[in-house]
Amino acid sequence: MNLADRLKNDPFLKRLSDLLGEREAYVVGGYPRDLFLGKRSPDIDIVVLKDVRKFVEPIRELGPVDFRFSEFMTAKFLFPDGRVLDLARARRERYPCPAVLPEVEPAESIEEDLWRRDFSINAMAISLKRTNFGELIDPTGGLEDLQRGRIRVLKEGSFRDDPTRAYRAIRYSLRFNFSYDSLTEREFDLARKYVRLLSFPRIENELRRGSAEERRAEFFHEAEARGLFPWEHRKPALKELKDLDGLLAERKEEDWILFFALFLPEGPGVLEFVHSLPLGKPEKKALLDFLGLRDEEIEMDPGEFHLKHGKSAEEALLVLAAFRPALRDFILDYLERKKKATPQISARELIEMGFTGRKIGEILKKIEILRLQGKIRTKEEERSFVQSQLDERSGR
Ligand code: ATP
Repeated sequence: MNLADRLKNDPFLKRLSDLLGEREAYVVGGYPRDLFLGKRSPDIDIVVLKDVRKFVEPIRELGPVDFRFSEFMTAKFLFPDGRVLDLARARRERYPCPAVLPEVEPAESIEEDLWRRDFSINAMAISLKRTNFGELIDPTGGLEDLQRGRIRVLKEGSFRDDPTRAYRAIRYSLRFNFSYDSLTEREFDLARKYVRLLSFPRIENELRRGSAEERRAEFFHEAEARGLFPWEHRKPALKELKDLDGLLAERKEEDWILFFALFLPEGPGVLEFVHSLPLGKPEKKALLDFLGLRDEEIEMDPGEFHLKHGKSAEEALLVLAAFRPALRDFILDYLERKKKATPQISARELIEMGFTGRKIGEILKKIEILRLQGKIRTKEEERSFVQSQLDERSGR
């Protein structure tokens, strides 16, 4: 099958093909898959049969580009319009043990490179060689699976070699509304067994990617249900995950930690567990702030709440709103009020009115609380409040 006609809408590839001439190069993975689904993939993965260094010059002729060699046999090009082109040498992989990164060596043919991939729908290639530009290479039957709406692994033991593929399968199945074929369905048992051998950052990476998906609540729910949370955890209901999704603005990878918070175990070891995770400071803070609120008795007064929990990360409050629906309206209202709670009167004005030292901070805090409680709304009201404090002091 030749796809040259379909590729007309994307002149980038045709230009690339002209520059590459008779060099053997293929666009693989997400791009061909999305082309058949009528979508345009922003990232382009190119596989070549020779040393990638031989391809750098022609690709740079496409225009201004930021370029760097990454790992073994790969290079990355970032174009000003946001397009990312990944260049890699065709490779074969060997997994010496389950769940470790594979040993890699150059492959002799594009077919060999396609067979080492995760799913048939991701194992198609389109030739960029000038003389057969647009030729589809589909040794594993990816197009048929795409048409049937099927996620299918390419060999038995695929999820043992690399359990991260199980998270990937869930992502694709939800994104495209596809089902799993029977072998893939059985592979999930292997993933469940071997997932604990993955390092935490590799699992985090999958949860991040899941968190950027439209159906991310379902992604987290299914990943848990299929045993892909290999540590002690609670099992949030799908509704809870969906509520959290609804509370967050845009979908982004960084939100993964907030979904993760809903899976934190409820037993006594939870703090040690959080401290043991290899996470950055803001992520740990979000988890710890949430834990500080999770089982706390909460008085639904915005001022009181602010005094006790005003320093908690906003995200932790959103997780709490999903976790304890009875608090939802109160928390959303508190967050709205908080935006408008910064006192407008300045410290300088307070000094001019006769306040000094610690008293200034105290007055500002009081104003903030009164604003949160809706008892002060304008700068004028702030001034009369400050005046009343002065009167009180002087016994008037
Ligand atoms: P997405 O639309 O989610 O970005 P993608 O296909 O571009 O999909 P990438 O993660 O960028 O996904 O991977 C590029 C290609 O590399 C995939 O299409 C697949 O062929 C292959 N691949 C990625 N991860 C694996 C894996 N763990 N095992 C085997 N092949 C993989």
